[in-house]
Amino acid sequence: MCTKPTAECATYLPHANCTSSRLPARSPSSGISVLIVGGGVAGLLAGLECWRKGHDVRILEKSPSRLLSGDGFTIGTSAIRALQKWPDMAEENERISFEPWISWHKITGEMISGPKPLELNVSEGTAGDQNNQPPKIYRHSRPRMHKMLSNQIERAGIMLEYSKQVVEYYENIGSSTAGVILESGERLEADVVIAADGIGSTSSRITLGHEVRARPTGFSIYRASCPIGPALTNPVFEERFPILDNDRPSAQLWMGDNVHALFGRTQDEISWYLTYPNREDGTESWSKLVDPDAVLQNTATIEGWPEYANQLIRATPKDRIHDFKLMWREPQPCWASSTGRIIQIGDAAHTFLPSSGNGATQGMEDAISLATCLQIAGKDNLPWATRVHNKLRFERVACLQLLGVLNHEMRQRSSNANTSQAKPVGLLGTWIWQHDPEQYAIENYSKAFAMLDLGSPFHNTNIPAGYVYQPWTIDGLLKAMEMGEEIVLEGNWE
Ligand SMILES: Cc1cc2nc3c(=O)[nH]c(=O)nc-3n(C[C@H](O)[C@H](O)[C@H](O)COP(=O)(O)OP(=O)(O)OC[C@H]3O[C@@H](n4cnc5c(N)ncnc54)[C@H](O)[C@@H]3O)c2cc1C
Repeated sequence: MCTKPTAECATYLPHANCTSSRLPARSPSSGISVLIVGGGVAGLLAGLECWRKGHDVRILEKSPSRLLSGDGFTIGTSAIRALQKWPDMAEENERISFEPWISWHKITGEMISGPKPLELNVSEGTAGDQNNQPPKIYRHSRPRMHKMLSNQIERAGIMLEYSKQVVEYYENIGSSTAGVILESGERLEADVVIAADGIGSTSSRITLGHEVRARPTGFSIYRASCPIGPALTNPVFEERFPILDNDRPSAQLWMGDNVHALFGRTQDEISWYLTYPNREDGTESWSKLVDPDAVLQNTATIEGWPEYANQLIRATPKDRIHDFKLMWREPQPCWASSTGRIIQIGDAAHTFLPSSGNGATQGMEDAISLATCLQIAGKDNLPWATRVHNKLRFERVACLQLLGVLNHEMRQRSSNANTSQAKPVGLLGTWIWQHDPEQYAIENYSKAFAMLDLGSPFHNTNIPAGYVYQPWTIDGLLKAMEMGEEIVLEGNWE
């Protein structure tokens, strides 16, 4: 039995039967069995939120143990609200997240403006968080976030099994279950199967009838993050990438033609990214590592790139530099299978470029919305839950994907002159951060259901006010931009 005080427990020491953790109130049993494929951020939070809503949960993850790789990602306020319902995670989230101040630079390193905090757009009448603090943009280390979620899964007693690779999804037409086949040949079934297995999920063969085509953006990104060990304790780095005078972590955004970089610094970690043109074939992979020399060959072609940035790249341990190909996928409106018993969430349903700052947030919003819809529908109406969830979520996600494409293009076309215009637009708008996916599902379930069942009018309000969703394609957008057409976004996207 764990005898550690709560705060110590939350430092991820492995422990069973922990009595010092505090769980949120759990709804009475819904009798719904949920099988989740994938223990990423979306799958783990879906497990927790389904547990809180009274569903029986089992999670399958293909890796042999907790997946603690990757560097950092941003989690929006809309998703953080769910963590705040879990007392241990509410505290731990504040401890492990940070809020960097941003400065804007030319690709030569010369500072143009900042550093300053990124401010969410706050209109009159929009309050702060539950403690009435101004909302902030949470930046997380992916490994720490994963530890926090999987420790909470363990404390809630949810079944999370590793080394379980799903090779196929299937439905039992005419029956009330769906299932998966594991690499071992074993078959597992449940009332609903949640595909949270990330980019390239094979569940699309069931939901869409085919896998989703990925198309190269023409760019790749080197990403690295590492503790500030002896090799990185260097007066040059301290001077160039300092902790700010107010003790804030910093992030420098360097922009040039067709290339941009980010250098981030917390008290104990340093991270850097470099987006560069790459027309070679390849696929997205979070496990493709490269040697610092490969990066240096690239930076040698960037006019004015400073030597101290090369020194940092050289000092980065070899096993820390990821080379991730940036790919686009068209928005896919259909995430639920025909029987409504298989549903995709997170990257399995919709991909974002890592630079969009929305991959993790939207996966978490999905998890919260789906758990709520399943509860509202109840076991007897389960297929409606997934369809309603899909209806409530798709347009919002597609709007954010649209912003991601526009933002990516704008960044790549930015010259040094308009560097300070580059802002993470997919994070700041009131309609983005103020959204509460649980409350939204509660308030809109019956209206969306009436639309799907009877054709009653219903319009999503979790998209920019005054905007009527227009389907779009990446080709259409890129062509319009090539022709110099202005992309006008009707409504209030701020
Ligand atoms: C190793 C890794 C490192 C990452 N690092 C970063 C990063 O540094 N910055 C960033 O912005 N984003 C990163 N991402 C992506 C980011 O985590 C996601 O875009 C986002 O959090 C959405 O989460 P998700 O749960 O939908 O997908 P993911 O986080 O990709 O999780 C999917 C999970 O499903 C598991 N899985 C896949 N296929 C199967 C299968 N057939 N059977 C069982 N399990 C399966 C995977 O192992 C993974 O744990 C990373 C993803 C991974 C997998």
